[in-house]
Amino acid sequence: RIVYVNGAYKRYAEAAIHAEDRGFQFADAVYEVIEVLDGRLVDATRHLARLARSLGELAIARPMSDRALLNIIGEVLHRNRVRNGIVYIQVTRGAGPRNFSFPGPEIFPTLIVLARAQRRGWADELAEQGITIKTMPDNRWGRSDIKTVMLLPAVLAKDAARRDGANEAWFVDSSGAITEGASSNAWIVTGEGVLVTRQLDTRILPGITRATVNDIAASERLKVEERAFTLSEALKAREAFVTSATNTVMPVVAIDGKAIGEGRPGPVARRLRSRFHQLAEISIV
Ligand code: PLP
Repeated sequence: RIVYVNGAYKRYAEAAIHAEDRGFQFADAVYEVIEVLDGRLVDATRHLARLARSLGELAIARPMSDRALLNIIGEVLHRNRVRNGIVYIQVTRGAGPRNFSFPGPEIFPTLIVLARAQRRGWADELAEQGITIKTMPDNRWGRSDIKTVMLLPAVLAKDAARRDGANEAWFVDSSGAITEGASSNAWIVTGEGVLVTRQLDTRILPGITRATVNDIAASERLKVEERAFTLSEALKAREAFVTSATNTVMPVVAIDGKAIGEGRPGPVARRLRSRFHQLAEISIV
């Protein structure tokens, strides 16, 4: 495997960053995950726009233009012969003697691009079964709209879910509303067939898959309400699902051990999943 690190393509075992990288010391870093489908990128424009936004919110300099970054992504895919899987991009504020204050302009951001192959269709098999959710208090910081690598609450939530036999965690805020999944956006379908997902605010990541699913719902004339919904509303829902770049649309069949709808993947989630790659932006690199 080959990894791009700060201007060079390195063998996996030799790819390294500085011991005083701020990503390592302070989680002073952001990232993106883009799906690779048959050698093409899914929704790359939206992912790169969100990367630029995350960097801007933290005042980290953009390491290069989108065009230059896309060239590196293409090269990493090519050198690793990845046709299906994901690309992971991470940008940190750079390396320098440990100091809470931002470094000066002489310190350049660290950029890492790596690719991971995944068998095409692996998520389709999971989607046939659907996944299960465990809820837990949302104990993350107040800017979950920025895609930072400060993922410890998500790591702990995923592990607690796994120990409980669940696939994903859903965070619940202090008002009892579901915010989002540990690594996905949360959706329900009400008894009236309305899709509900939390409004974009500082408590959730503006998911790229969420945005594309919104487009698909509009093209299918499905009604979407962007608003907070509670756990009790979710437990009464006809369907539930999550969205993320790695899973696209993934049906949820149980929450906290209670079946959702008939306890099987529902027709709305299945329909959105089957339409996803037809409506997403697919670009050559
Ligand atoms: N919410 C969180 C907290 C995430 O970590 C992710 C993806 O990793 C998502 C939502 C889904 O975002 P996207 O559809 O852009 O992958």
